[in-house]
Amino acid sequence: VFSNIIRMVEEAQNRPSHIAKFIDRFEKKYVTGVLITVPIFIAILYYMNGFTFEEAFYRGMVLLTVASPCALVASATPATLSAISNGAKNGVLVKGGAAMEALATMDVLYSDKTGTMTFGDFRVVDYEAATDVIKEVVFMEQQSSHPIAKAIVSKFSDLSLDAIDSREPIEEIAGLGLKKGSYRVGKPSAFTQFNDPNQYHEKSAGDHTTILVAKENQIVGYFSMSDQVRHEAVDAVKGFQEEGVEVILLTGDNEAVAKKVAKEVNITHYKAACTPEDKINAVMASQEKEQVVGMIGDGINDAPALANANIGIAMGSGTSVAMESAEVVIVKNDLMKLLYSYKLSQRLNRIIKQNIIFAVGVIIMLVVLNVLGLLDLPTGVVFHEGSTILVILNGLRLIREPK
Ligand code: ADP
Ligand code: MG
Repeated sequence: VFSNIIRMVEEAQNRPSHIAKFIDRFEKKYVTGVLITVPIFIAILYYMNGFTFEEAFYRGMVLLTVASPCALVASATPATLSAISNGAKNGVLVKGGAAMEALATMDVLYSDKTGTMTFGDFRVVDYEAATDVIKEVVFMEQQSSHPIAKAIVSKFSDLSLDAIDSREPIEEIAGLGLKKGSYRVGKPSAFTQFNDPNQYHEKSAGDHTTILVAKENQIVGYFSMSDQVRHEAVDAVKGFQEEGVEVILLTGDNEAVAKKVAKEVNITHYKAACTPEDKINAVMASQEKEQVVGMIGDGINDAPALANANIGIAMGSGTSVAMESAEVVIVKNDLMKLLYSYKLSQRLNRIIKQNIIFAVGVIIMLVVLNVLGLLDLPTGVVFHEGSTILVILNGLRLIREPK
C-alpha cells in the first residue's frame, strides 16, 4: 500500500491544475511579447523622443525587468503544492493540482454506503441454510474482498471445507455476488425468478443487508448482516450540505437498508439496488446538467464510477482498484478530513486568485511608472522581486492549518 501511495504521489506531480497549465502557456507567449517589445521601446525613445542611447537602453532594461512574469508564474504552483502537502498531513492524498482545483468546485457528492458511510464491518445476525450449503458459501466467499465475504468467512471459520469440490472455478460479479458450479450467492433482487420453497425471500426481508444462496434454480439459504454508520459520516454530510454540496447515497444494497442509512446520516436522496453501471449513470446524469461531480467509494463495484466522476474519492480501507481509479484517497477513512480538504481547496483557489491579481497589478503599475520615467532599475528590481516573494509566501500560508 505504501509503495503504491508513493507511486501515486509521483504521478500526481505530472498532473498540474488547469490554471497552472494556462499560466504556463500564457507565460511562453507573454515572454516572447516582452522580448519583442523591449527593443521597439528603446528605438522609440531613442529615435522619436530624443533620448540619448544610454538613457533609452536603461529604460528598456527596466521594462525588461519589471515586465517579466516571475510573480505570475509563482502564483499557482507553490500554493497548490502547499495545499497538497497540508492535505497529506491530514490524511488525505490528493493526486495532483487538477484534482485539488476541481474539489473546490464540487456541486454534488455521490457516496457509496458499505465501507464509506458505514464501517463495512458486517456481523451475521441471522441465517438459515444446511451445513453443506454454508460450507460452499464460505468456500466461495474466501475468494471475495467484499466486506460481506469477510463477515461470513469469519463467522464460520471453524467449519472444515475439505469436502468441497475445489476444481470448479469461482466467478465474482462485482455488485452482485458469486457463482461456483450450480451454486450462486448474492443480492436478493437477483433471485426473484428462483423457486423459494422455504420462503427465504420473506424470512430475510427487513432492514438488514441480506444475501441469498441458490442451487440450480432453488433458493437454499440466506444470511442477514448488520453494519454500523461511521459517526463522523453524519457530521461530514452535514458539513457538505452547509457548504451547498448535495450529498446523494448510491448503494448496491436493498431499499430498506439504504433508507435506514440515509436517514441516519440525514441524506434525503438515495438510490438502492444499484449495479456498478447505475452508479456510473448517476454520475453522468449529473455531469450532463453541468454539475461538477464527486464520487466516494471503496469497492471494485465503485471503481468505474470513481473513474468517471470529476473527482473520484476512495477510502483508504477500500480495494486497491478503487484507490487507483480515484484522484483523492482518504487514507484514514475519516470523512471529516474530506470536508477539511474541500475547504482547503477553496482556500487554495482564493489564494491563487489573490496572487494572480496582485502579480499582474504590480507588473502593470511598474510598467506605467517606467513609461512615465518615474522608476529606476534598483527600485524596479526591489518591487518586482518583492512581489514574487510575497506571492510565494502567500501560497505557503496553505501549509499551516487554519485557526
Ligand atoms: P455497496 O454499493 O453497498 O458497497 P455492493 O454494490 O458492493 O454494495 O454490493 C451490492 C450487493 O451485492 C450486496 O448488498 C450483496 O447483496 C451483493 N454482493 C456483493 N458482493 C457480494 C459477495 N461477495 N457475496 C455475496 N453477495 C455479494
Ligand atoms: Mg462499498
